[in-house]
Amino acid sequence: MANRKRRITIPVVLCLALLMNLAMNFKPPTAEERLRAIGSTKGLSETLKKALEPGVDFEPIPIPKRGDWLAEHPETGQTFNDFTRSRPNRPDKIRSKIYLQPLGEFPKGKIPLVKTLKEYAAAYFNMHVDVLPYLALSERNITTRVNPYTLNRQILTSDVLAILQKNVPADAFCVLAITMEDLYPEPSWNFVFGQASLRERVGVYSFARYDPAFYGQKRGKDYEKILLWRSCKVLAHETGHMFGLTHCIYFDCVLNGSNHLAESDARPVHLCPVCLRKLQHSIGFDVVSRYGNLFRFYKKVGFDDEAQWIANRLKRILPDEAAKEM
Ligand SMILES: [Zn+2]
Ligand SMILES: [Zn+2]
Repeated sequence: MANRKRRITIPVVLCLALLMNLAMNFKPPTAEERLRAIGSTKGLSETLKKALEPGVDFEPIPIPKRGDWLAEHPETGQTFNDFTRSRPNRPDKIRSKIYLQPLGEFPKGKIPLVKTLKEYAAAYFNMHVDVLPYLALSERNITTRVNPYTLNRQILTSDVLAILQKNVPADAFCVLAITMEDLYPEPSWNFVFGQASLRERVGVYSFARYDPAFYGQKRGKDYEKILLWRSCKVLAHETGHMFGLTHCIYFDCVLNGSNHLAESDARPVHLCPVCLRKLQHSIGFDVVSRYGNLFRFYKKVGFDDEAQWIANRLKRILPDEAAKEM
């Protein structure tokens, strides 16, 4: 999202030429480069070492197809060592909570989306998560427009970020506004999925384009589950950015960049070993109990394939203990 914003200042023709040229050069990292990105695990606990072994549960990132994120945005990646050198924001005793700020209306279905996302964020990041009172669009000075192509209402991200910045609770690590409204970052832009200010520790993300109704398509009978699945992924991805993780180019990973819906649907919800190590370093959670909490969440909401993936991970990390965790 931040990349999109920066590109505005570069002349469009130059930017496209640059991207096309670099796209030709993107090569998926080798096995050795992937190991180097994880970094030396000397001195870590045996359990953590095992959790960071690439093994068979993680697929190397494939060669991007035309139109995919890495074909158009040839990123160079952020190794674990790059990450620590960047001195990212880390939670501490005071700034210890993730706050979710629901913005505008949420669909009233069987799934209480915001409450479920709160539970998910707590399991995923192993941190305390609180939901702030709903913010109605009419309550504050939030600029809206009707998008000329989709004819849907959109809200201006900078207005939302300005409101969030003024109201960051003292114990917040970050405040993330989540909305079913479509977003735009400035008048010349068609739309944006989300935008964040890492320095101010605030962000806003939209799930609007993950609902088939947005595109005028019929909602299938399992649409709530699909919407929850997509929302969980975007929440994990975007919140990951708040911890200073940039896009992952090493494995199939929730932190992979995504250029279109099919690509984000194909992206897994789990962290690869490189990104798991970064998040574990930042938060300091116990990898086994985090996987246990995620397993219970996935079972509860019916994400059975993902629950099975976690069960496999736990068997490999702690063959004798896995059953007790579940
Ligand atoms: Zn991203
Ligand atoms: Zn990753």
